[in-house]
Amino acid sequence: MNPESNPLKMAANTADTRSNTVAVQATNDDASASKLSCVKKGYMRDDYVHFFVRRPVRRSPIINRGYYARFAAVRQLLDQFLNSDTHDGAKKQVLSLGAGFDTTFFQLQEEGKSPHLYVELDFKEVTSKKAALIEIHEEMRQKIGVTASISTDTGEVHGDHYKLLPVDLRDIQNLNEIIALANLDPSLPTFIIAECVLIYLDPESSRSIVGWASKTFSTAVFFLYEQIHPDDAFGEQMIRNLESRGCGLLGIHATPTLEAKERLFLDQGWQRAVAWDMLRIYSEFIDRHERMRIERLELFDEFEEWYMMQEHYCVAYAINDALGIFENFGFHAKPKLSPRSLRPKKKKHQ
Ligand code: SAH
Repeated sequence: MNPESNPLKMAANTADTRSNTVAVQATNDDASASKLSCVKKGYMRDDYVHFFVRRPVRRSPIINRGYYARFAAVRQLLDQFLNSDTHDGAKKQVLSLGAGFDTTFFQLQEEGKSPHLYVELDFKEVTSKKAALIEIHEEMRQKIGVTASISTDTGEVHGDHYKLLPVDLRDIQNLNEIIALANLDPSLPTFIIAECVLIYLDPESSRSIVGWASKTFSTAVFFLYEQIHPDDAFGEQMIRNLESRGCGLLGIHATPTLEAKERLFLDQGWQRAVAWDMLRIYSEFIDRHERMRIERLELFDEFEEWYMMQEHYCVAYAINDALGIFENFGFHAKPKLSPRSLRPKKKKHQ
């Protein structure tokens, strides 16, 4: 979206010379436009993202493939979580930090896979806009249930199984109140998503959020997707591009490598943490048949750039497992419901 025509700009609140809140909120519009571009080309199915895009654009094959990889990584891990056996059939929760206009909840509902409770948090400017779009579009209103209440003024949606709430994630005290307001039960298995969010925050805030989540949720997976390797030529350019749009990656120098991302979690009390870059995830974790399918969708010849780009994004996940249900969770886990994705592991990574 052109920042000049972005209503979110009205709420300008400059936090840092390299990064301002409105510009970071606008990355969310960018993400929705890119996801819609993928959907139109057949990379993935999302029946709701078009409600969040005013002016559809066609992205280049490399951008489409990158967004597909991001989508597939989060969905495969989320599916593992949703399919994991809780022994006693305990209810599950998803908590999305900086959810933006993400449509996963609606799509999961459509596919009959949504958890007992799905909670999304973002700045009020974003949640108000999302609430308004949910209210306008019958297809989304149906998914949150007829009894749900929607307030565009406060930026809140309260359904039985879906909550959208405004919060500044840096305000940890407020996060505790949000947990209560959202009816989240800290003892239930919880999948926490931070997709392209923590990297925009100052390192102290990211550490506090990760530490707060570990203390709060005893059986949980914390999923993170964001940039790494700021120090080579590609990384420097990536940072300059984002800074020129007002989106400084304030957190990247505190966690510049895969090891540093893992340490972020372990230092804050998580029991296990694993980080892989997207190049490895694309070739070793994403379902092979799906990969073959999407690679036939468009002509693709930007291999050098693709490799470099994917090496500069990663997924890290951290686990707390009080209930002992995540033993098989993760990149090497054998998904129960998707035997197609089983394939021999490569020796060098064992
Ligand atoms: N997770 C979504 C959106 C990513 S864009 C996706 O992957 O599609 C980053 C989002 O984080 C924006 O919607 C922005 O408003 C939100 N965000 C950034 N800093 C935040 C903060 N301090 N508190 C709440 N939300 C924040």
